[in-house]
Amino acid sequence: MACTSPGILLVASQNPGKVAEIRGLLAAVPLQVISLADLPRPPQLTEPYDTFAGNAQHKAATAARASGYLAVADDSGLVVPALDGAPGIRSSRVADSDPERIRWLLEEMRDLTGEQCAAYFVCVIALANLHGEMLGTWQGRVDGLIIPQPQGEGGFGYDPIFLYPPTQQTFAQMTAQEKNDVSHRGQALRAFARDLPAILKDIAPDNE
Ligand code: IMP
Repeated sequence: MACTSPGILLVASQNPGKVAEIRGLLAAVPLQVISLADLPRPPQLTEPYDTFAGNAQHKAATAARASGYLAVADDSGLVVPALDGAPGIRSSRVADSDPERIRWLLEEMRDLTGEQCAAYFVCVIALANLHGEMLGTWQGRVDGLIIPQPQGEGGFGYDPIFLYPPTQQTFAQMTAQEKNDVSHRGQALRAFARDLPAILKDIAPDNE
């Protein structure tokens, strides 16, 4: 049995920082946006692949099949080319809390200087239909520099040490709106939100 409700989009994430950003960016989308926290029995989401796209697709498909809702998932992370791409897809797994993840990265980068401090955030958004079939993926990337002293109180994750060169502020020093305007997740979600009306039209019988 596939019990569904019309017009619901499940955000397949347990990360409150991400869910808040995604909700804000999808405010104009004609769907009720819920998250895993709204489900009585949320599925366990794993990240078994070695690419952002593979993991985003896997999480969206798992959440859609388990819930019977259209589901969107993001897989994102910070890439430092001078560390061979680390932490990359392991960005959330290198330690148990944001301050510890920051400490881990600064320790890994302790001998790096100048251009070796370059880093970028990547985000891949995947959308799955009620049966877990892929409806599309969207990507965003933003380039910056890792700084040795955390600055700012906003955002989440590595934001306090990610300097965005055009404004000379870290993502944690920018307002949510300023970050969304340029961030990897903002880019990917705006592209997703642009394409969504056409996708909903195509799948209308399936989503009702
Ligand atoms: P995942 O997508 O759940 O695997 O987690 C990605 C991890 O990358 C997060 O837990 C953060 O540590 C980091 N990350 C992703 N996007 C951002 C961002 O916008 N700011 C800061 N850290 C981020």
